[in-house]
Amino acid sequence: MADKMETIVSLCKRRGFVFPSSEIYGGLANAWDYGPLGVELKNNIKQAWWQRFVHQRDDVVGLDAALLMNPKVWEASGHLANFTDPLVDCKKCKQRFRADHLCPPTQAKPELGRMKTPPPEKPVCPNCGGELTEVRKFNLMLKTFLGPVEDATAVVYFRPETAQAMFVDFKQIQGSTRKRIPFGIAQVGKAFRNEVTPGNFIFRTREFEQMEIEYFIKEGEWEKWFEHWLGEMKGWLKFLGIPEKDIVYREISAEERAHYSKRTIDIDYQFPFGQMELYGLAYRTNYDLTRHAEVSGHDLRYMDPETNEKYIPHVIEPTWGVDRSVLAVLCAAYTEVGEAKQKHVVLKLPRQLAPFKAAVFPLLANKPDLVKLARSVYDDLRKHFPVAWDDRGNIGKRYFSQDEIGTPACITVDFDSLNDNAVTVRDRDTMKQERVKIGELMQYLGNDK
Ligand SMILES: [Zn+2]
Repeated sequence: MADKMETIVSLCKRRGFVFPSSEIYGGLANAWDYGPLGVELKNNIKQAWWQRFVHQRDDVVGLDAALLMNPKVWEASGHLANFTDPLVDCKKCKQRFRADHLCPPTQAKPELGRMKTPPPEKPVCPNCGGELTEVRKFNLMLKTFLGPVEDATAVVYFRPETAQAMFVDFKQIQGSTRKRIPFGIAQVGKAFRNEVTPGNFIFRTREFEQMEIEYFIKEGEWEKWFEHWLGEMKGWLKFLGIPEKDIVYREISAEERAHYSKRTIDIDYQFPFGQMELYGLAYRTNYDLTRHAEVSGHDLRYMDPETNEKYIPHVIEPTWGVDRSVLAVLCAAYTEVGEAKQKHVVLKLPRQLAPFKAAVFPLLANKPDLVKLARSVYDDLRKHFPVAWDDRGNIGKRYFSQDEIGTPACITVDFDSLNDNAVTVRDRDTMKQERVKIGELMQYLGNDK
């Protein structure tokens, strides 16, 4: 299984999906760049998410908030005091570990997604068996200074989650959109955590991207909306092509939950390096808005226009990791086809996520008539969606090259095309070839972006 991960990481680098950041300077630990194909895949995931949960719903609106916020936000949310990882060092080999990673998952107590109490027993260093230091708290907020003076008054923090902006802006957004409860605010954006032990490729990095919704509800309806969003998250996983058998819905027990949450489910995926959290769903009660009302002094209550009742809304929060989605999609789509020497990789991405929707080849690169016709097919299709062009090597090699990056259809312009105005379309998954009229190509390929 670890081999599979290595293969995927090397494919990602070779084909330009994801590679180490600033590598000519030796890179920066656990920082990754999304290359030409990676940025397409990642954008396709984010766009599909936005389309599904914002555009296609009339009860969710969007937000793109600033990364740097007033530090009071983090005081109110509890991040400054509690957003810590329990840290231990090995006295012998000096390696550093997260204490909650050294005990079984059921003993890890998430507080703001983190551990609440230290593990009951003192484990030893998994690296050398040496004795570990006492558990220390390490705050994960990434700090910087705003403006020309580097003193305590200029300290600000990169947001550790996108969620808080949706709470802080709740009143402003509800007022300007006149949305009635229940409704949600959605945001896609970067967040930063000074992780103690990042790793596993793009799984855990200090800079990462989230897709989150804060869905504001009446307290009495929380169970109904929790189930609703659980269903939505299941539907999304299906859309991504992630098999149900590789997903684990982990109910977080009362002792393990954050103190304000009445129900939390972690949605885990069987990554090649183990079962790890992919998404999360939490009922956060009205904790966040209550805290922001207290600390800011602003009235954040909602007034029901029908009953004139005033109350602080409760919240259901579905959270999706963007980078983890990319990784899970790559792992699920990665397929090896054929025997030994003939073996090649097919990335069976859902069409909507594929970086290129089609590739166009002239059968021979040195025949101007063929190239000219192929070029016009290519230019026409490109008006509608991203299309690859390849005129190198033989057709078989071009097919394999496109299979490896998940292009669903390959279109070859051959000598017959000059007479019959038709092309050969080869399907990535079935490898079947069909003759299609050039004028009917768009309809044949489908037009969903
Ligand atoms: Zn050690």
